[in-house]
Amino acid sequence: MSRSLPLSMRTVRTIAELRALLRTLREGNRRIGFVPTMGFLHEGHAALIRQSVSRCDSTVVSIFVNPTQFGPGEDLAQYPRDLERDQTLCHRLGTTVLFVPEPSEIYPTGYCTFVDPGPLGEPLCGQFRPGHFRGVATVVAKLFNIVQPDLAFFGQKDLQQTVVIRRMVRDLNLPVDIVVAPTLREADGLALSSRNTYLDADARARALALSKGLFAAQEAFEGGERDADRLLALARKPLTQVDEVQYLELVDAVSLDAVVGEVRRTSALCVAARVGRTRLIDNVLLAPNADEAQFISHLEAE
Ligand code: AMP
Repeated sequence: MSRSLPLSMRTVRTIAELRALLRTLREGNRRIGFVPTMGFLHEGHAALIRQSVSRCDSTVVSIFVNPTQFGPGEDLAQYPRDLERDQTLCHRLGTTVLFVPEPSEIYPTGYCTFVDPGPLGEPLCGQFRPGHFRGVATVVAKLFNIVQPDLAFFGQKDLQQTVVIRRMVRDLNLPVDIVVAPTLREADGLALSSRNTYLDADARARALALSKGLFAAQEAFEGGERDADRLLALARKPLTQVDEVQYLELVDAVSLDAVVGEVRRTSALCVAARVGRTRLIDNVLLAPNADEAQFISHLEAE
């Protein structure tokens, strides 16, 4: 059940203002939920915010296009922004505080401390975006320290990110529970992403190849197929439509190690491809012994 809307959502730009508000919101041991985003919000973000609003007493949403997770030549400067629209959506969804810091608030002059996620940041997207997960782990650790949430909500759409963050929380003993929510998609299967706005009509049509292949493999898996190579071949078929396949891999959903032979544990079939100038990622979970919900609680218990 969602709680009643706050009378008005506060938008704050400084850590000091946010901390002052949080002191009041936390009184009486009330639960704080947190949804970190880079803005240009869509229904995928909205689903995370709705979960937080329904499970927590107050919800903090952050919008921060984090420069340390972008490499040279990536889309940091072009990343889409629409703060007014995001504010309206967040308010409508029942967000209590919207935190929109400037880069200098998060990384003041002389900033030099980073969180290194080690080997979990290296495969998959890490091969093509060196330093990306170091930037992600660093900003999420900082935001967790600033907000000190009880629960934090992330999307399975960024599967490697969820694996990196869960491990960071465990390794650094951060007192927060991580909730991972399923990927929201357009009616035709394309995973929602702020970057979909870069796609023209032709690229939008060809972008469907990612989800099409993943769904074909998922369907075969549900029909009993367990062979990694055959599942990968099914997912690869439609990828002739894209301009560059960066990776298509079947990995263990906890260790990110490649699955060789049979799928025996919960695994993730992950793809990254370029369509026109846009880089897209997507994944599906293949769980031989449990459904997705059990998989998620299994991870939470680790
Ligand atoms: P971003 O603004 O892209 O950094 O995403 C913020 C959060 O929203 C991350 O936890 C993402 O995994 C999540 N997210 C992005 N796209 C989707 C989607 N299609 N479905 C569910 N969650 C999503």
